[in-house]
Amino acid sequence: APALRLLGVERHYKEGAGRLSILTGANLAIHPGEIVALVAPSGAGKSTVLHLAGLLERPDGGDVEIGGRLAGSLGDAERTAIRRLQIGFVYQFHHLLPEFSALENVMMPQLIRGLDRKEAARRAEELLAYMKLEARVMHRPSELSGGEQQRVAIARAVANAPRLLLADEPTGNLDPKTSHYVFDALDALVRASGLAALIVTHNMELAERMDRRITLQAGKIVEF
Ligand code: ADP
Ligand code: ADP
Repeated sequence: APALRLLGVERHYKEGAGRLSILTGANLAIHPGEIVALVAPSGAGKSTVLHLAGLLERPDGGDVEIGGRLAGSLGDAERTAIRRLQIGFVYQFHHLLPEFSALENVMMPQLIRGLDRKEAARRAEELLAYMKLEARVMHRPSELSGGEQQRVAIARAVANAPRLLLADEPTGNLDPKTSHYVFDALDALVRASGLAALIVTHNMELAERMDRRITLQAGKIVEF
């Protein structure tokens, strides 16, 4: 099954007396091991798509399917469980906990899930090594470069082995060379784990390196 499907998704916002239609029957399928770039101008609805795909919002029509399971009929508790176990999030700004080391930041989602400390540390070390951060595990976020911080944030996002990674401009505040380096690490991780990724980016060079590129046009998702 696809990791993510949007099925005729609609999203409308109130705007004064009228309404603003952002999605009017949007369809999308992302399969395991696939990295898809979402490129669109500001205000087009990129965050809306990520919030719907991440089960943070409910559509006004249509449905969202994660790993073959339709989310529309599920209650909030089940949606939260799917979000925590099957979806990883990465943002433009890393949101790492400043008082904790890189290792502890990556362990955190696993500890919250109830995993044993040793097991969590082992997996965190493995992920940080994958991100080429083995020499940085004990550093706090403030002691890391921007690119390193984002690589820690990616490791944390996949710590619970989600099937879907949703990223909102993960390299948006990095220089072009660092952006490519961070993407290399993400790409290697996706290829190794069979994760599916939907990545919002304004960087066309990065988008060209992904498997597919989509944008929003008149409320629909189209490839370009
Ligand atoms: P993007 O991420 O592409 O910049 P968004 O998904 O954030 O776009 O927003 C798309 C449009 O929907 C924008 O015009 C925005 O102002 C509007 N919008 C987003 N969220 C809300 C909301 N909760 N209420 C009203 N309008 C909203
Ligand atoms: P937790 O309480 O463990 O953070 P949640 O289900 O509230 O679990 O959130 C899971 C993930 O969803 C969080 O790690 C966060 O990255 C993302 N998230 C939650 N709420 C929002 C939000 N309002 N906007 C963007 N991302 C969010």
